[in-house]
Amino acid sequence: MEVFINPTVACGDCYACKELQCENVCEKIGFLGIHAHTGAFAELMNFEARRGIHLPADLPLDVGAVLEPVMVAKHAAMRSGVKPSHSVLIVGCGPVGLGLLLVCKQMGVKKIVVSEISQRRLALAREFGAHVVCNPKEDDVVAVTKKETDGLGADFAFDISGTAASLETAVRSIRIQGTVSVVALFEGAIQFKPNDLLLMEKSIRWMFAYSEEDIKDVIRDFGANKEWREKIQSMITLRLGLTDAVEKGFHGIIDRKEEHVKILITSNRGIME
Ligand SMILES: [Zn+2]
Repeated sequence: MEVFINPTVACGDCYACKELQCENVCEKIGFLGIHAHTGAFAELMNFEARRGIHLPADLPLDVGAVLEPVMVAKHAAMRSGVKPSHSVLIVGCGPVGLGLLLVCKQMGVKKIVVSEISQRRLALAREFGAHVVCNPKEDDVVAVTKKETDGLGADFAFDISGTAASLETAVRSIRIQGTVSVVALFEGAIQFKPNDLLLMEKSIRWMFAYSEEDIKDVIRDFGANKEWREKIQSMITLRLGLTDAVEKGFHGIIDRKEEHVKILITSNRGIME
């Protein structure tokens, strides 16, 4: 039996865990492989049985291994309240941004504008069905978004990059009373202009990780259909065994971001090709 392991580590005892039933905002939130229980880059590992969620028998394991960013995206889309009739700007198109694009496409969102610097990621965004793609190095993202939304600005913008520039772009690109959803970790404090929000009653909301329900929804929605599965598979730009994990894997994604979207590291030879 093959499972997706929900990497959430939560206390089960705080207000978020007990009253809200929202483990993703647990006071002591952690993730397998980052904060607790060592990692998963091994042939064998221990995890809590309740964290194993069955994968359908026909779901390729490599797809299962890279569904996690799509779950972050699903949570963000659901929590933000995006509907098919809305227009959306996605700022930053790594695995979560591309995942969000797929989630929005699956929902039938009428207008999706994507902003990204990497040509490889922009090409994937085009393949995934973004209506308009732009590169902030060459294009005025705010102007493009307004042009695509009858001059109003997008109903929603998602900041997936987590920089002062990406947040400012997102805020300036939304319409009056529009919403920016932040789905990114910031490296530190940033300069920010609250009046850009105040004067048009714009909002910022924050979306973090996912719930077990988001995980199950993504496995169901994206696992059952060959076309969606192949799109998710195409995010894997390199496959490596454990011995190459540090040099080619971690350094590869840090040093050659332009080339890669998602690097799959595995001890399972069956999904190396
Ligand atoms: Zn808790």
